[in-house]
Amino acid sequence: MSSVDAIVIGSGPAGITAALYLARSGCSVMLFEQMAAGGQVLQTAELENYPGFPKGIKGYELADLLSAHLEGLTVTRSSEAVTEVSGHAGAFTVKTAKSSVTGKVVVVCTGAHHRRLGVTGESWMQGKGVSYCALCDGNFFRGQPVAVVGGGNSALEESLYLAKLASKVYVIHRRDAFRGARIYLDKLEAMPDKVEIVRSSTVTALHGDNALEGVTVTNVNTGEERRLDVQGLFIYVGFEPGTAFLPAAVERDAQGFIVTDAEMRTNVPGIFAAGDVRAKLCRQVITAAGDGATAAQAAFVFLEQLHA
Ligand code: NAP
Repeated sequence: MSSVDAIVIGSGPAGITAALYLARSGCSVMLFEQMAAGGQVLQTAELENYPGFPKGIKGYELADLLSAHLEGLTVTRSSEAVTEVSGHAGAFTVKTAKSSVTGKVVVVCTGAHHRRLGVTGESWMQGKGVSYCALCDGNFFRGQPVAVVGGGNSALEESLYLAKLASKVYVIHRRDAFRGARIYLDKLEAMPDKVEIVRSSTVTALHGDNALEGVTVTNVNTGEERRLDVQGLFIYVGFEPGTAFLPAAVERDAQGFIVTDAEMRTNVPGIFAAGDVRAKLCRQVITAAGDGATAAQAAFVFLEQLHA
């Protein structure tokens, strides 16, 4: 079994930054990246609010740059999925289906995955019209009407992306007010021929025998039902954290996000968490990277105290 100073789980902006800072501090690092580096950045068409890129940067370009930043450093990378973390500070064991590695500290940066809407037929229609990734699947609906569900930044941003491809985009939100940024809503409202905002409504039924042919939306105030003939339904109703492999002793909030202090320490000594997997207000690439840097520094100080 190999042994390192620090094990970083997850290779989105938080994990890459944590690995980068730990390696530059002289630590040996094992980085588990279940998919390609970048995390949710890879599913984002364009980032407009990442400082330093005033003209925006494509998600895949930023992901490539993040990954390249680890080249030549003391970081071993594994694409195996972590199934279990056990042990204690100074001697954690991280297991995958095929192997184990020990580390003195663990930094959890596993982000979050898309929440399901919970409407009947959602699972079997995934890939047959229902999608959680406009960037991956939007092109299948070129010239066709689609709907987006949700009122956060993801729903609004992806609606703007889909408006470039689809013939019509319905943005369905369960409330009147949106929690996403005003700037995105303004852009959508400026395209009344292309975009229709369906407020205070939920998707209550999916239609289609072999693939999606339409959805029923129900107004939550009046109960009035309306059928939208869309071939694509893009669901952006928030995220759930990926923490199933962690010991129950690691404190989570009511939604399952890991609770940390300002220095990314969890309640279990030697386990740190950074990025979207953490309970916090602002989930952005920039804050994930900031968390990763803070977690790395806190883990480095912890390692020094272990060795003292
Ligand atoms: P979010 O901010 O949690 O928003 C989820 C949306 O889905 C909310 O509008 C919520 O409605 C709605 N919703 C939740 N459950 C629902 C259900 N069962 N049926 C119908 N609607 C439901 O999630 P997000 O938009 O994915 O964003 C996640 C985080 O990433 C946020 O912090 C966001 O700011 C950040 N983000 C930032 C950017 C950016 O700045 N460029 C881009 C993407 C994401 P209610 O509003 O009624 O609760």
